[in-house]
Amino acid sequence: MLDQRFSNIWLVLACVLLRTALGLTPLSDDSLRNLPIAGADFDIKSGGILAPILVPRVPGTPGSKRVQQHFVDWFSTNLPNWHIDYQNSTSKTPATGDKQVPFVNIILTRDPPWAREGNIGRLALVAHYDTLITPEGFIGAIDSAAPCAMIMHAARSVDEAMTRKWAAMEAEGSSGLEEEKGVQILFLDGEEAFVHWTDDDSLYGARALAESWESTYHPAMSTYQNKLDSVSLFLLLDLLGSAKPRIPSYFKTTHWAYQHMALLESRMRTMELLATEVDHPFLPEHDKDPDTFRMRFGIQDDHIPFMARGVEILHIIPTPFPEVWHNHRGVPDDGEHLDMPTVDDWAKILTAFVAEWMDLEGYFSGQAEIPDNAKRSVSKRKTEFDLVSNRVQR
Ligand SMILES: [Zn+2]
Repeated sequence: MLDQRFSNIWLVLACVLLRTALGLTPLSDDSLRNLPIAGADFDIKSGGILAPILVPRVPGTPGSKRVQQHFVDWFSTNLPNWHIDYQNSTSKTPATGDKQVPFVNIILTRDPPWAREGNIGRLALVAHYDTLITPEGFIGAIDSAAPCAMIMHAARSVDEAMTRKWAAMEAEGSSGLEEEKGVQILFLDGEEAFVHWTDDDSLYGARALAESWESTYHPAMSTYQNKLDSVSLFLLLDLLGSAKPRIPSYFKTTHWAYQHMALLESRMRTMELLATEVDHPFLPEHDKDPDTFRMRFGIQDDHIPFMARGVEILHIIPTPFPEVWHNHRGVPDDGEHLDMPTVDDWAKILTAFVAEWMDLEGYFSGQAEIPDNAKRSVSKRKTEFDLVSNRVQR
């Protein structure tokens, strides 16, 4: 009994210390007001970010390869300081017989320039880019072209401020004194089932990546033991882009992160910075009773193989699912059925969340200059590549 009580005290202390260490710095009203919008880049026909993703992207097909190339080209052109990696696997599927289908996860990372790989804790922004094999021609705009686009926009919106912040830290000699924080984007392949959702026919890319990272060890004495431990928060976006979404807080251990995001939404609504008019917030469960978190793994999605290995998850997915989900009700999930004000608002909320996570207040355009010696590009290197209480699939 006594031991238990002491261990509880230590647990509480550890949580307090962790929160202090994470030290999220709120963005000022001015910073929120000046957050960029994607504008024409989210045009569904010609937008430089979104339009190229709005095509069928079944794993192993030319459409999938073209979208992979779009991600790589866009980052190489717009955000050359992001390191590009691929994680490849193959698997048979119930729809393709003995043929090995290739699955390609694309991983983009931006870390403090001085930091050692094993000492960096990363915010992972995650969405899947593959689409259903049937119905033929399925576009998957909310599932998950729009979430991929929101992540790209958020990355571009914070990139310069990260450069400024890290340059300032190096200039004042404070680099390496705090915990090291980076941002990582995971564009995952093979989320969808080929035939029917089962543990084996779904999450092909996520399963391969979680398994691979669990056994990719950092050098001895690193802060994090392996690549999976380096993920501080796995922020998974899915089925976003339809009007009036309602996103519950699914997990007790990341409710504090949900609250951060809900607070940002609430501040931006009060300041009239969001384009949507809603009768309830996108994130309505800021004050959720801690005793009412019931689902252990939540909705079946790409977080499952990571969560099963102890990674902290913030799952941003609506309940109920949008009407267009998988074209089930005859309404196609395509670009024309996206609600663009909702897409823009999500992009803004996500950008603000990443900026707070990375403590970027004071480093946005006009707030601090980038020293000349920090404008260099880091050279780009490419490398080769239940438990479940709710069985709903995405
Ligand atoms: Zn889906």
